[in-house]
Amino acid sequence: MKALINIDYTHDFVADAGALTCGKPGQVIEDKITSLTKEFIENGDYVVFAIDVHDRGDEFHPETKLFPPHNLRGTSGRHLFGALQKVYEENKERSNVVLMDKTRYSAFAGTDLEMKLRERGITEVHLVGVCTDICVLHTAVDAYNKGFEIVVYKEAVASFNPKGHEWALGHFEQSLGAMVK
Ligand code: ZN
Repeated sequence: MKALINIDYTHDFVADAGALTCGKPGQVIEDKITSLTKEFIENGDYVVFAIDVHDRGDEFHPETKLFPPHNLRGTSGRHLFGALQKVYEENKERSNVVLMDKTRYSAFAGTDLEMKLRERGITEVHLVGVCTDICVLHTAVDAYNKGFEIVVYKEAVASFNPKGHEWALGHFEQSLGAMVK
């Protein structure tokens, strides 16, 4: 069984006016990420939107020192970017579609993602979203350590950092045994 983990494809991470945006590289993957998401939903595969959430001025959160405020709880910065928001809205009542808050880079950190996957007998995680070398990377590392097979879609992940993006694609394949396609 497989699941699609759709990571942080939100306004704040993708739109021109986003608080911590990847910009163009993030925007050009919109069609691919949207079509893959539809395909997984229609196949009945488990689809998880793992979406960063922060509280304004959280002095205890490590990202507060590293990044400007982003994906703040209750703001439109957390809405999915472009056509993906509509796909989510149209399918959110389905039992195989879930939106999960996360507060760290990895979708596994502090969430019940692993339990949700194990309950469903899922052994293979397919990763899309942003940023390739931050949240997608950390999610992939956790998936690797937990023994999941990993597939990453190179046309459905992106970063503001082209070198980091390329490095991460190599790392997925060479060090995490992922299929990068
Ligand atoms: Zn964050």
